[in-house]
Amino acid sequence: MSDTREELRELTAQFRTRLSWSGRWGALGVPSGPSPRFTEVLPELSAGAEEVFADGCVGAAPGEDGARSSLQLVRDELGDCTRCRLSAGRKNIVFGVGNPSADLVFVGEAPGADEDLQGEPFVGAAGQLLTKMIEAMGFSRDTVYICNVIKCRPPGNRNPESDEVASCEPFLKKQLAALRPRIIVALGKFAAHCLLQTETPITRLRGTWGTYEGIATMPTFHPAYLLRSPDEKRVVWQDLKAVLAALKNLGIDPPTAPRA
Ligand code: URA
Repeated sequence: MSDTREELRELTAQFRTRLSWSGRWGALGVPSGPSPRFTEVLPELSAGAEEVFADGCVGAAPGEDGARSSLQLVRDELGDCTRCRLSAGRKNIVFGVGNPSADLVFVGEAPGADEDLQGEPFVGAAGQLLTKMIEAMGFSRDTVYICNVIKCRPPGNRNPESDEVASCEPFLKKQLAALRPRIIVALGKFAAHCLLQTETPITRLRGTWGTYEGIATMPTFHPAYLLRSPDEKRVVWQDLKAVLAALKNLGIDPPTAPRA
């Protein structure tokens, strides 16, 4: 695709998310205009933050009981899903794990073999690295929420196909609507493209704030990629520090002090 077409597509996607964001918060009566607290820390935030946080970010999440039961309704609707061919090869549906009223949600691609066996996202080698990243931020797997775009393991860990995404994505949308986190971290190209509705390469997207349905979203490299390219851990840590700065600005501190 030419640079101009890619740029146009990107601008359209940004305009669409911007519209849905304004519509959502406008309808709820949240005042528009810069949030003074966000404006104060903008210089500390990474590229794109000014645009994303200009209207004051997202509203309060529902209480824990509300979030838990909304999430359970989504899980119940998913049921023993056979909506796509991935159901034939799976051992377990991997729905998500963590705190239903988490401020921070991590979204990956799809379960691998370990996740399929245990029914829990990010428990294999990449998952262990993700757990360390979360802990370096001062959180734990119990205080954030972790899920994937696709809930069943693609055979041989192949990329999910478009009809499989079409079957599963509505459940991610409902899951995120139930969770209503303050910030989403999109892990890797697949989650970033799905949430931000763009085809911009992850190398350009990472570290730059976007929005998913009005929720500030930070795309970064996938932990599986970091296992192959450990030198990139440094930039991912920058992205996670931008997330911590944004959370702090929302008055949210991790339960323990982040790594310096
Ligand atoms: N990779 C993912 O994207 N998700 C998992 O749950 C495990 C590995």
